[in-house]
Amino acid sequence: MMPGSVDGPGPHLALCGATVVTSLDPVSLVAADVVLAGDRVASVGAAPPGVPRRDCSGTLVLPGNVCAHHHLYSALSRGMPYRLEAPRNFLQILQRIWWRLDRALDEPTVRLSALVGGLDALRAGTTTVIDHHASPNFIDGSLDVIADALAELGLRSVLCYEVTDRDGAARAAAGVAENRRFLARPHRLARGMMGAHASFTLSDDTLAACAEAAAASGVGVHIHVAEDGADQQDAEAAYGVRVVERLDRAGVLGPDALLAHCIHVTGPEVADINACGAAVAHNPRSNMNNRVGYSPLAHAGTRVALGTDGIGGDMITESQLAFFRATEAGAATDPAWPLRRLAEGARIAGRSFGEPLHGTIAPGAPADLTVVAYPSPTPLTGENLPGHWVFGLSSGQVRDVIVAGQLVVADRRSTRVDEAEIAQQAAGETKRLWARLAEIPPHPFTPKAR
Ligand SMILES: [Zn+2]
Repeated sequence: MMPGSVDGPGPHLALCGATVVTSLDPVSLVAADVVLAGDRVASVGAAPPGVPRRDCSGTLVLPGNVCAHHHLYSALSRGMPYRLEAPRNFLQILQRIWWRLDRALDEPTVRLSALVGGLDALRAGTTTVIDHHASPNFIDGSLDVIADALAELGLRSVLCYEVTDRDGAARAAAGVAENRRFLARPHRLARGMMGAHASFTLSDDTLAACAEAAAASGVGVHIHVAEDGADQQDAEAAYGVRVVERLDRAGVLGPDALLAHCIHVTGPEVADINACGAAVAHNPRSNMNNRVGYSPLAHAGTRVALGTDGIGGDMITESQLAFFRATEAGAATDPAWPLRRLAEGARIAGRSFGEPLHGTIAPGAPADLTVVAYPSPTPLTGENLPGHWVFGLSSGQVRDVIVAGQLVVADRRSTRVDEAEIAQQAAGETKRLWARLAEIPPHPFTPKAR
């Protein structure tokens, strides 16, 4: 929508004097003012007179980053005590940590997890979070609680509830119903996907229910795929097929699907994922932390984005780690590779919002922008921006964040909420959360062995 057009709002803010990164794929830079009108970018050029100006000299204005795979529900786990025997493999990490934490969550802690995790993301320049939520003892209404908390912060999101059979049939059905309910209710800054945990915790019937609900709502399924070899072993032992084929037969694969991890996949599975057009969320930091391996899709995939898998919402750091891990893996890459992955994350979010220009700074694009204080000590050009990004940029330099045209972080502080107040509330609720967690034993669910 153009400024001052008959049916659109006039310009309300101009970011002036910045170096504007109009696109990350391909990288494109211009010295310009960015004029905002309503929830969109109105123009990139010289700001017209009379529009309120915000001095952005010495800064880079970037398209807001997208975290393509998050678990905001883990936001209150930092510093969490752990008194059980140390996990020796991925399944034990789930049984002894995450499948205990999710069962301890209630409404107040789901809300505070979203506020704390959402603030972390925004303050790091992440303007959209694609989340995968689990709280088996507070399913109904949980996605609204998260959407409302994130709307309070001014953060854009794509949400889903993680459907699984590991907590019984009633909770599996409740998870499907929660996704359906959320998908039917419009939110200004939130959209939905159909959430499913992973092949190894989903029966054929539940997987079919997920595929059916996704199709009925016209959205894709967001699911973990072959994060660990146990997922493949279970599919082969219980269903006689590998995970990607099982998901394909169930109708889960397609251009709207979002597949997290895809580590233990073979060449034919890589080809199948690319052929169906699904997006892949690569989570390098989490994969290192869980020692689950390195995804062959990271470099062979056609639609690969980056996620944190719940380890914060800082996509500048995640993209840097993605580059270093890729280099260590011996994958032929260059510093522009993680920037292309971030651009793919924005395309995935744009697909959910029906915004093909999402992730670009161009007239008509949604105004999701990050202003980074970066008075570059060396020459900065479109050609060498990736080198600056990987070796010089820091989320600590994020000064302002704009989502849907609104300045939601200004001078490194939320303009919407009292951050100290949220931290204080979270600390209090977290003590109760950790006390409940201490009483919850390891989860008994185990996949079928080959
Ligand atoms: Zn995950």
